[in-house]
Amino acid sequence: MRTLLTSGDTLTIPTDAQLTAALTASRGDDVYSEDSDTAALEARLARMAGKEACLFAASGTMTNQLAIRSHMKQPPHSVIVDHRAHVHIYEAGGIAMFSQATTHALTPSNGAYLTVEDVRGALQLGTNIHFAPTRLVCLENTLSGTLFPQDEIVKISELAKEHGIAMHLDGARVWNVAANEVQGRGLDAGKEEDLTSVLTDLLAPFDSASLCLSKGLGAPIGSALVGSKELVDRARWFRKAFGGGWRQSGPLAAMADHAIKHHFPRLVGTHALARRLADGLKKAGFDITAPVDTNMVFFDASPLGLSNDDVVAALAALQDPIALAGNRCVLHHQTSEKAVDDFIEVANGLAERPGRDDASGAATLEPRKRVKLGY
Ligand SMILES: *Cc1c(COP(=O)(O)O)cnc(C)c1O
Repeated sequence: MRTLLTSGDTLTIPTDAQLTAALTASRGDDVYSEDSDTAALEARLARMAGKEACLFAASGTMTNQLAIRSHMKQPPHSVIVDHRAHVHIYEAGGIAMFSQATTHALTPSNGAYLTVEDVRGALQLGTNIHFAPTRLVCLENTLSGTLFPQDEIVKISELAKEHGIAMHLDGARVWNVAANEVQGRGLDAGKEEDLTSVLTDLLAPFDSASLCLSKGLGAPIGSALVGSKELVDRARWFRKAFGGGWRQSGPLAAMADHAIKHHFPRLVGTHALARRLADGLKKAGFDITAPVDTNMVFFDASPLGLSNDDVVAALAALQDPIALAGNRCVLHHQTSEKAVDDFIEVANGLAERPGRDDASGAATLEPRKRVKLGY
């Protein structure tokens, strides 16, 4: 199976250079804060994020849940999220389990992202005993590859601040946002100061953020929680209680550090490849069903009278197979141009296939399925 163009960006594999960095890493015990490479990674990420402190942990789910648990003190309390949010749907009910909190899952009124008005309308300000007061707003950027406008984030954070409500970012894919911003500002993705200024700005409206190092960035494991020293100290305590204290984490930290330095600059190219894929599929007659802002392409082949299963089967039958599990295609730093070109060639081949259903007939007979954005 070709792992380099798939439905997910968790399938990146460590490079030889990354594994070599692991070999020469420090070997101290991080539970006692005695591992120098882990401490160096945490210091570097805190500085890049413009926050006081950082905690390196096993997964994005862990850093999200540690952040939420550390913000929430005493029930009754509630968290506002987008109804599609990873923290709400894909983290095994962690918010209820660990933080004893209710989630208020909102549907964006504009169909795309939450606005300050959506959030204002949902705030529970703690004067009516029927409600669980809002203590946290948790946003996600990107959400399924789509950018959250930063000016709206700033407005939401100003509203939250007025009411003493904390803000957390699920930044599993914030590196993609940062790559986009670096490019938009004409900065150099290979320069740490440039990435630092962008990341600091993006995270300024948030009290905490979870930055996944293993999705598109390609560390084999790891996510970072950044925030105030007080919050991160509290999260470190909870991490121990959750069984997430780890010992010789130096090699993992070294591999994550390598990914930030060497893989982040590749994301601008990854996004260009995603656009190339989307353009190619569109030319072949597919619909592209979500904005291709970063590294994800959602497609629908029904205008050609084809189902997604037809496309998945054709890609799986390639000599060098592409593994998709639906209508979502996620590109990452190891996605090759050849994989994208193969996909476009398959799409063109399917479009020209003799005997396929009449496209216009199929399109008018059956209302096109609404594509659900998800994971
Ligand atoms: C993958 C993902 C996570 C969780 O990361 P894991 O490392 O898989 O636990 C959190 N939020 C978003 C948006 C994600 O895509």
